[in-house]
Order: sequence, then structure tokens, then C-alpha cells
Amino acid sequence: MAPSAIENIPIECKTLNQENDWIVTNGRGGAEYGKILVQNVLKDRIASIDPATCEPGEEDAFFVADMGEIYRQHLRWKMNLKRVKPHYAVKCNPDPEVIRLLAALGNGFDCASKAEIDLVIGLGIDPSRIIYAQPCKTRSHLRHVAKLGVKQMTFDNADELYKIKELFPSAELYLRILTDDSASRCRLSLKFGASLDCTKALLKLAKQLELSVVGVSFHVGSGASDPQSFVKAVHDSRVVFDQAAACGFDLKTLDVGGGFISDSLFEVMAEALREALDDCFPNSIRIIGEPGRYFVSDAYTLACNVIARREVEDPITGVNSYMVYLNDGVYGNFSSIIWDYQHPVPSILSAQHGIRESAVEYSIWGPSCDGADRITKKTAFHCLLDVGDWLYFREMGAYTKCCATRFNGFTNEHHVIYVSSEAGASAILGY
Ligand SMILES: *Cc1c(COP(=O)(O)O)cnc(C)c1O
Repeated sequence: MAPSAIENIPIECKTLNQENDWIVTNGRGGAEYGKILVQNVLKDRIASIDPATCEPGEEDAFFVADMGEIYRQHLRWKMNLKRVKPHYAVKCNPDPEVIRLLAALGNGFDCASKAEIDLVIGLGIDPSRIIYAQPCKTRSHLRHVAKLGVKQMTFDNADELYKIKELFPSAELYLRILTDDSASRCRLSLKFGASLDCTKALLKLAKQLELSVVGVSFHVGSGASDPQSFVKAVHDSRVVFDQAAACGFDLKTLDVGGGFISDSLFEVMAEALREALDDCFPNSIRIIGEPGRYFVSDAYTLACNVIARREVEDPITGVNSYMVYLNDGVYGNFSSIIWDYQHPVPSILSAQHGIRESAVEYSIWGPSCDGADRITKKTAFHCLLDVGDWLYFREMGAYTKCCATRFNGFTNEHHVIYVSSEAGASAILGY
């Protein structure tokens, strides 16, 4: 992006409190405008920090979150999967601002623990908009949701049915079935889901226990890449709907889970899912989904400071390269490299030595004392990075901040600056 294009966009900042600097946009919209806005805010923030003289923590890594991006993803979902009502998977990024926006847009929520449920309800969202989509629930959490009236929940085994019978017999149950998740980034079916061999027996048991089964759910694996996995899972769900009817249940809802990604494969997956749904389920059946990363992945950008540098010479080629150390790593917001198989791509936010004709090679490391704390094995920039420079990473909204630890005494409370590149989101959020 040309620097002049960035400088041309005026931004107006107004600070509401010490935690959050609310940025008011000038009403322009769109993904490209969003990128420029985020760039502007990143640069604005680092200009206010002098790593040479600042207090400990002032130069910590920070996020800029463009809520307009989430708004655009919401519209994109509506255009492609009108029949499917999203229930945002809170675990992916439990930022209250995300929940607030998605709630105002009419979405529901997928929660898996007491804390997630309390967070959503604490924001004034009705319990009927929550699905407790954890097939293996903690007993005390189950008692807690019975009190709150969070009725919708999933199950995939007989013991869970006995537990629910004892603690919340009026719950509305979704039978989670196994899927072929072999084409997904993070497989879930090793841990959850009833195979079609045992769904009939589970439905019969639920009937005997006089429990209320209201639907079927599945999850094709997080970061799914094969549209056929959705097609197969929808057809399997149809089989289970018919089994349930034979047992005397009248199922009303199909939950197609999460696994949606935000790149252009989304449209391909959505088309396959849409067609499978229309083939197998009449319009009278309510369809819900549990997208997580789809909504937030692209909305968050992370800026990190270069805290140290080491020059290394390859003993064979004699070529020089650099190891640079950032103030965030795999024990922090980059745990996604290990648990979520992400490959965050570094870009330069500020470099004191400017552009160079020839490329310089780098490996990029986190701040902890662990040798495994490496962000990028090999990358090259047309500039010589130095201590005090800043890098940024896009697409850092999913399974990042929520998984960060305090290992080695480094913080996991990274500041988020919220911006909005869409007037629709600004109107809802008040910035
Ligand atoms: C993690 C999870 C999701 C969200 O998955 P994404 O891949 O982020 O869309 C949805 N439903 C359940 C039950 C999950 O465990």
C-alpha cells in the first residue's frame, strides 16, 4: 500500500477510558478502507511509544481490532447461508466487544463452560440464544445452567444422558454425531461425536429417560477444507432425524457446527452445505451453526516490538542473517502456531533504517527462555531490522489472545484498540 494513501485518511481519536482508545471513523467502509484504518491506528499508537525511554510494559505487543470486518463477515454469511443462524463459538475469541456486536446483529452463541455462559448472559443476552455445545459437561456447570435456564445443550454418550436426567431433566438436547474431519486443521471427532452405530441406542435411552431430544449437531473440524465433509455430515444427520422419528421424537433443529474459514473457500463450502441442506431438510427445520474463527480471524492485527537481535553467519555459505526477538511468542498470542497450526505472516510496521536494495534474512523468536518459542523459521525483508522496530501480523483474531499464558512472567493481557471501518458496526458499538 502506498504510504500517501495511508496518510490521506483522517482519523479522529477519542479516549473513553484508560483501557480502550475508541477510534471514530469518518464513515467510509469496505475491506480496503479497513486495512488503511488499521495501519493508521497501528502507526499512531507506536508513534506515542519510545522503547528507548518508556516504562516497563508500555512497548508491549498490542492488537488493533476492526469491528467493521466482523460486520462484513456477518453480511457475507447472510448472503451465502441465509438459512443457517450463526451461534458464535465464544471460545475462539471471547472479547465482549465481539459478543456485543454479534448479539446486536441477531446472532446466538455457542458456549462450553460456566465462565463463557456467564460472560454472554452478563452482557444481557437471553439464555434462549445460547447453546451449551459441550457434550461432556462439568456437573456443577450443568446445575448452574439449569438455574439460569440455558436449555439447549449437546450430548454424545449414555453417561451424559444420565447426568442430564439427574441435574436438568427439562433440557433441550442435540445429539452430536461423529463426522469425517480428516480434511480439517484441528480434528475434533477423536474426542467428540456419537457414531451412527450407536445413535439409535442413545435415542432409545433418551426416550426411556423421558428426556427431550430436539435436534442433531455435528462439527466437521476446525479449519475444514473439504466441502464434502459438510455434505456427508448433513446426509448422516438426515439418517439420525429419521431414527429419532422412529423413536417417537419430532426433531426441529439441525446444528451444522463450526469449521468455516474466512478465505474464498468459504463460498465453496457454503454452496455445498446450502445444497445439501436443501436436499435433505425441508424449510420447516430450523438450521443453526457455530462459526468461530470465520467471524474474528481477519479482524485482529497484532503489533510486536523487536526487543533484541543477534547476527549469525552460516558456517557453510558465509551468508549473514539475523535472529530477531519479539515481545510476544508461542506462550503468548502465537500459541496458535502450536495448537491451531497457524502460520502468522510478519510485516514491517516501522524500521528505523528504512528500505534496502537487497533482502535480509531473519528468523523470528518470542521473548521466553524456551528454544521452542519461535514464530517464523525463515523470512526476508528489504530492510535491516533493529532493536526498537515494530512488526505486525494480520489475521490474529482466532485462538490467539484467549490461549495466551503468563509463562516466564510475560503478560497475557494485551491491549486492544477497537476501530470500525463500517458505519453499520460503528452505529451499534458507539464508535
Ligand atoms: C471450537 C468449536 C466451534 C468453533 O469452531 P471454528 O472452527 O472456530 O468455527 C464450534 N462448535 C464447537 C462445538 C466447537 O468445539
